[in-house]
Amino acid sequence: MEIEKIDHLGIAVNSIEQGKNFWTDVLGLEFDGTETVEEQKVTTAFFPVGESEVELLESTTPDGPVAKYIEKKGQGMQHIAFRVKDIDAALKELKEKEIALIDETPRKGAGGAKIAFLHPKSTAGVLVELCQRDD
Ligand code: ZN
Repeated sequence: MEIEKIDHLGIAVNSIEQGKNFWTDVLGLEFDGTETVEEQKVTTAFFPVGESEVELLESTTPDGPVAKYIEKKGQGMQHIAFRVKDIDAALKELKEKEIALIDETPRKGAGGAKIAFLHPKSTAGVLVELCQRDD
């Protein structure tokens, strides 16, 4: 599998509006605007940092995956996303290595990316996202 870089770090927040000030006003990062991904019941906000980005995640409904995550673990680091060249090949390879996958096939993420999550039980407790962007 070819991993190109850390694409982004996903951080679960109760409110992007309230949570974004630290990243913009304190750290001085640029705010790239928000995007809602309906299938995942989440609104995302991206803050570019060099080659990577910080992604804030706010649930659009109380039963969304991000809301459930915050309910269980509180706000904070939720996942790490690696940019891969070929997500289909990567998933095939991981399957052969018996890594538990949350997404057996890629789905649509923010910014038109193809994404898939690996199950934390196979990754020492870290929610790992693979992400392929055609830019
Ligand atoms: Zn992500």
